[in-house]
Amino acid sequence: MIRVTIWNEYRHEKEMPEVAAIYPEGIHNELKKALSKENDDFVIRAVAMDDPECGLPQSVLEDTDVLIWWGHAHHGDVPDALAEKIADRVRKGMGFIALHSSHLSKPFLKLMGTSGRLNWRDADRERLWTVAPGHPIAKGVPAYIEIPAEEMYGEPFGIPEPNRLVFIGWFAGGEVFRSGCCFLREAGRIFYFQPGHETNPTYKIPEIIKIIGNAVRWAYNPSADYSTDCTDCGHPAPLEKK
Ligand code: ZN
Repeated sequence: MIRVTIWNEYRHEKEMPEVAAIYPEGIHNELKKALSKENDDFVIRAVAMDDPECGLPQSVLEDTDVLIWWGHAHHGDVPDALAEKIADRVRKGMGFIALHSSHLSKPFLKLMGTSGRLNWRDADRERLWTVAPGHPIAKGVPAYIEIPAEEMYGEPFGIPEPNRLVFIGWFAGGEVFRSGCCFLREAGRIFYFQPGHETNPTYKIPEIIKIIGNAVRWAYNPSADYSTDCTDCGHPAPLEKK
């Protein structure tokens, strides 16, 4: 079983009727339902920013193999200490999937070390091209996916060079974007995935759910070791001489 936690800011859905009309129970619960249907070996928990301890108390983090993140307008409300704890856990092997506007989320930026900046424009048509068809995240995904309406994200995108680029988004306005990027950070695997603006029903497209499910499997590291640091000073214990 892969223990998946889906974290959502979950404020647009409560404040904007047009978003609530698409995702009445929130993006996190929508993703939970859709991913559960296709992946019976996932144990999925959906949490939100306004839950106690920002939805991620230690007990939840310790029970998570892969963390999916959707944030947008309130990145600053995530405590720095929590973001650092997440980033540290990713370095030790927890998978991390940053969706859409999470390119500016604190955990993602900590892991990237770059600005996360990009160009954007409201509602456009997107064609999402699979550029690494042999990659596990592209398994069963067609050559391209048409997304009738999606927010345009354009280059240049302030990320480090991805370890693998799996999808490129093309927009009807002519822009292109590195829409599906893999990164490795120590023992952790990170996937950034661009589609998923809150006023577009993108997470109802089966191929998009397929990609996110594949990304969970790719990011899952069963040999993750979270116990190497000394609890007093944070440094690893000295190695024994062999
Ligand atoms: Zn957006």
